[in-house]
Amino acid sequence: MVNSNAASYGKNARVLVHGGAGAISRKRLTAASEKRCKEKLKQALSAGAKVVDQGGSALDAVVAVIKVMEDSPLFNAGRGSCLTRKGRVEMDASIMDGSNLDAGAVTGITCVKNPIEAARAVMELSPHLLLMGTGANSFCRKVASQAGLKIVDPEYFVTARSLRGLARFLEKEKLARQAGLTISGLTTGASQSEGASPDFCHDDLEFLNECKYGTVGAVALDLDGNLAAATSTGGITGKSAGRVGDSPIIGAGTYANNDTCAVSCTGHGEHFIRAVVGHEISAMIEYAAFDVRTAAEKVVFENLARTDGSGGLIALDAKGNYSMPFNTAGMFRGVATGDGRFEVAIF
Ligand code: ASP
Repeated sequence: MVNSNAASYGKNARVLVHGGAGAISRKRLTAASEKRCKEKLKQALSAGAKVVDQGGSALDAVVAVIKVMEDSPLFNAGRGSCLTRKGRVEMDASIMDGSNLDAGAVTGITCVKNPIEAARAVMELSPHLLLMGTGANSFCRKVASQAGLKIVDPEYFVTARSLRGLARFLEKEKLARQAGLTISGLTTGASQSEGASPDFCHDDLEFLNECKYGTVGAVALDLDGNLAAATSTGGITGKSAGRVGDSPIIGAGTYANNDTCAVSCTGHGEHFIRAVVGHEISAMIEYAAFDVRTAAEKVVFENLARTDGSGGLIALDAKGNYSMPFNTAGMFRGVATGDGRFEVAIF
């Protein structure tokens, strides 16, 4: 859809990125780690901003952002994804085009280098919206050359850090069991049950996997006034095989609608699904005339809080207003705007 006011969108164009929310400890995040993460966020933002600046679509922009993040082992998506209890990678991703409400998603895939491209392929080349597991892998292999998907061995995604993260998780779980405690829902790092919450954070980049954050997401508004959203994740460390979080669920972890907003979430997926976060924000804007910031903050600080859901999100409306709230200690995030703003932050 080409908006008739396209020319007026130049300055409003925006690209937002997140690289996960969680109990990131200021004290334990070394300057070197912080720098590496921020540089990767900037690189991802630049990739998306370049697409938009050259008149490309919001959809292409969010894919460009996510691919940079998926290719980096620093974040929990693509290479560097969290591992299941059995040490496997099962990745989830979704994408939504706000101009026509088209969407695509995959869950539990193991063989596509950039899961976000697999989600887009489902949207564009299949009659379906969400494909899972072996069926999703087969579909991706079938359309690989047409969709430009790179098929890789599952080992490509596994890193020494993700293996150490799983080993530590299983060890801590064992200790917690012996002490009669539970690790709260295999959480994304924040709000773990009192006493059962081992010290997950480390003073190097291991915290990204061991604390189980690092899901990546992007939202964009292009020069034609169209919105798009995308999210990609390895899920949570130590998850059971087949566990699906909010990231591939349209309306929960990802949502985009030109009439309201584009949203990508990160956090404890089970809570984000229950709060239907992406669509809830859209509905507040559509039916209750909330602005995007008020709606996003209400969902993060009130709705999610009702069930102790921890995490954050990035949200952007079709006028370029945006919000990046989180109820955790930190969230890797950044924004690039058509009028020259280019910022990344963690805390
Ligand atoms: N939301 C993701 C999931 O639950 C994890 C995260 O964002 O850290 O799978």
